[in-house]
Amino acid sequence: MTSKLLIQQLYTERQLPRAKMQMLLTDAFNEASVRDELAALARQTAQSVFGAKIYIRGLIEFTNYCRNNCYYCGIRRSNTSAVRYHLSKAQILDCCRQGYGLGFRTFVLQGGEDLSYTDTAMAEIIASIKEDHPECAITLSVGERSYATYKLWKDAGADRYLLRHETASAEHYAQLHPAALTLANRKRCLYDLKALGYQVGTGFMVGSPFQTTADIVGDLAFISELQPQMIGIGPFIPHHATPFKDYTPGTLAQTLTLISVLRLMFPNVLLPATTALGTIVPDGREQGILAGANVVMPNLSPADVRENYLLYDNKLCSGAEAAEAKNDLAVRLQSIGYTIEECRGDYKES
Ligand code: SAM
Repeated sequence: MTSKLLIQQLYTERQLPRAKMQMLLTDAFNEASVRDELAALARQTAQSVFGAKIYIRGLIEFTNYCRNNCYYCGIRRSNTSAVRYHLSKAQILDCCRQGYGLGFRTFVLQGGEDLSYTDTAMAEIIASIKEDHPECAITLSVGERSYATYKLWKDAGADRYLLRHETASAEHYAQLHPAALTLANRKRCLYDLKALGYQVGTGFMVGSPFQTTADIVGDLAFISELQPQMIGIGPFIPHHATPFKDYTPGTLAQTLTLISVLRLMFPNVLLPATTALGTIVPDGREQGILAGANVVMPNLSPADVRENYLLYDNKLCSGAEAAEAKNDLAVRLQSIGYTIEECRGDYKES
């Protein structure tokens, strides 16, 4: 079956059987013409749902302490060369105030699994942000916790939660993480979050060590089963002080292919052009949008800590990546025919 027919089937049926998906991905990873065809349909699909508009989220990377030791991650516990920081409640509220002034209506609190913020302290931070900015959405991205903790934070006012599944293969999961971390628990967390009524985001790194195309097909199948409201994917990029320092990064071609395929599978999903994509090529974010992404997440963290949230080498944190440079971002988006939409940007069923 030619790629053209596979793309047509994906477009009309919003899914492909596993063998056909694997065939399409293999073709698209290797051939620019296949990727271009996917991108054109994905872009058209995104525009039919969102118009030529991009949602923005203010990303507050509030702690780089982490109890975990994921083999790929620059803020893993065993990286003794990381310069650690965590923000106080007052600093976090200040970031939100600045972000609000800049036009952000969603705040994403992301960090390592830092238990120095107790569950109650986090709930108080969430409640205070809501008190200051009742019309804004709060997204959390702080890893694996119990149902009770997720519930406490939901009750305090959190709206959304990002937790990438990283890989839907238990064997591959074990190659990326120490034994203490399991795919089963990650999935438990995602289903708990859904049951509690969070808008949930999942996703994976593209080109992570040992990942096969069959693994990616499995990731797409898991995402279909979970039906998340948000999907975050970006290339794996090595960090010099991790066990994966010598592995090759994920590619632009693979990442753009997957953005387009995900858009065709899930027309309404909130799909960011990620910082990692902007890090591997200077116009990565723009290319991601032209492949079907509809969200960007500029950095709202205090300028003096930004470079310490180093998940991978050369991670972008300035230029259009910085929230205060929102005008630069607007100009870049304008150059490809898009504008920023200043709103909460909730998921909508069609
Ligand atoms: N601790 C939370 C969690 O695990 O979900 C949030 C922070 S974690 C650092 C956010 C995401 O960064 C992970 O889900 C992972 O996919 C991504 N990440 C970590 N190291 C990376 C790397 N070397 N290259 C690309 N992405 C990476």
